[in-house]
Amino acid sequence: MTEHTKPNEPKNDFIRNIIRQDVKAQKYEKIVTRFPPEPNGYLHLGHVKSICLNFGVAKEFDGICHLRYDDTNPTAEKQDYIDNIKNDVKWLGFEWAGQALHASSYFDQLYTWAVQLIEQGDAYVDLQTPEQIKENRGSFNEAGTPSPQRDASVEDNLKRFADMRDGKFADGEAVLRAKIDMSDANMNMRDPILYRVMHQEHHQTGDKWCIYPMYDFAHPLSDALEGITHSLCTLEFEDHRPFYDWVVAKIGFETPPHQYEFSRLNVDHTLTSKRKLKQLVDEGIVDGWDDPRMPTVAGMRRRGYTPEGLRDFCDRVGVSKADGVTDMRLLEFSIRQSLDDTTARGMAVLKPLKVTITNFSDAVSQWQDLKADSVNARWDADAQTLWLTQPKHPNVDMGEREIPFTKELYIDQGDYEIEPPAGYKRLSSEKPEIRLRNTYVLAVTEHITDDSGNVVELKATIDPTTLGQNPEGRKVKGVIHWVSASQGIPATVRLYESLFSVEDPSSVSDVHDALNPNSLTVLNAVVEPSLVKADAGTRFQFEREGYFISDSQEHSTDTPVFNQIVSLRDSYKPA
Ligand code: ATP
Ligand code: MG
Repeated sequence: MTEHTKPNEPKNDFIRNIIRQDVKAQKYEKIVTRFPPEPNGYLHLGHVKSICLNFGVAKEFDGICHLRYDDTNPTAEKQDYIDNIKNDVKWLGFEWAGQALHASSYFDQLYTWAVQLIEQGDAYVDLQTPEQIKENRGSFNEAGTPSPQRDASVEDNLKRFADMRDGKFADGEAVLRAKIDMSDANMNMRDPILYRVMHQEHHQTGDKWCIYPMYDFAHPLSDALEGITHSLCTLEFEDHRPFYDWVVAKIGFETPPHQYEFSRLNVDHTLTSKRKLKQLVDEGIVDGWDDPRMPTVAGMRRRGYTPEGLRDFCDRVGVSKADGVTDMRLLEFSIRQSLDDTTARGMAVLKPLKVTITNFSDAVSQWQDLKADSVNARWDADAQTLWLTQPKHPNVDMGEREIPFTKELYIDQGDYEIEPPAGYKRLSSEKPEIRLRNTYVLAVTEHITDDSGNVVELKATIDPTTLGQNPEGRKVKGVIHWVSASQGIPATVRLYESLFSVEDPSSVSDVHDALNPNSLTVLNAVVEPSLVKADAGTRFQFEREGYFISDSQEHSTDTPVFNQIVSLRDSYKPA
């Protein structure tokens, strides 16, 4: 497991330290970073780390951060992805400078620079087949074999490159390559490809181009063009840095951007690869990119995770060059602590067990005489309902709610045991009495079972003297939640476990073998009325159960649907 930094400490990671020095040395007029997603899928938890870092340092050092789509591969890219990436970045609480940018808007400039490289003798058109190119790159121990076109004249190369642009070659028939060193120990320097032929429409440039620049060529030059000062990327690009520096030097930038690499975010039981997440969507294993089990920003948003929680998580994970796996419970910790002070409370019974209060009318008719001042309630004789007024939050002012208390209630099946296990603190045949949260003390007088011995209903009495008051002469231990059977609202509640049952799903070749069959449980619950009145996308704490959100797509007052965000507590504590 990786080490974590504490959130509010000044951040002292190696990247911020480099920037601090650069600022002190007045190396740049302004710090400029960028977040450069390829729009070929939805953003995931790994991208959140990169977003928090790039936008975070820009903000901290009074600089700016660009949102730039690295859209150099039109086959896999889509407008839908572009739109969602913008949504996600905004939702996370960040703002990019000016308009969102596209590498594709630099295609003309990139083409001109490619021509410049040819003219300088730094690039050539290779007519080998893709297989030959691969073969002739050599290996770690073996130098590559130069292409037959490697020493072609500048004129020939200019002509061939123009022919590539003009559609005179089919896909795979020609590429433009940098002319560097076919025996470099770094394979990325063995004449890397700059342009390939691809007869494919582009979502931004339409059918203007049938050649497209490679990421490794477009990326450094887009950075340079935008005046990026610190180009922050993940460690797998470390071996690409010599080429990054080569390109910007050959084109001749006076203040070149500098690339710095940090370690990727990996979290146990999750996947941070757009390609593999796309497979889950395409095969219908999950219900779309925004399925609440997905580690995508869209999925986590629908799940009810908060932007504050995600940012806190990234702060705690920190930034370093050390590879590691972050504990999923750290993420849950950050989310949970962002919810305590921000969510209204309510009672929801997830697995209902009916309770009939046999002395209800008698007991409740006395409430006014016994307890008029300390309990805020109102009796509705027509509906035979005692409406109890309670704050929505115990210590944050969020207003009040009315909870209906009636003769027939539901409690959770897990709160009654005929034969309680050792240490069981809730209701049982051995301990029939308990406090019903916000209302009376209840005593079970009888349990009714079905043919298989399962408890299907309880009969009980309430102690009329215990509304808002402790019973005289005895202590009643334990409090359980409940919902009125007649006034409660049926609701669909979805509980989640992690999508994967294995710790490192990326290590399993067939993703199907890594899936957790219990990742989703759908329950027919009953909830107190105040919980369904709120809009879709409202977060609550269901008392004793956890944090939940009304589903942004399927919830309505008539058909309430809630997603579990996170459990109430966990013994896990961040280091
Ligand atoms: P994927 O493999 O999921 O497609 P990617 O790196 O190819 O990820 P990009 O759209 O190219 O996806 O990524 C945009 C930025 O996000 C890059 O700078 C990349 O380094 C960063 N990034 C992607 N995954 C992670 C991760 N797991 N941790 C930190 N940063 C990441
Ligand atoms: Mg990528």
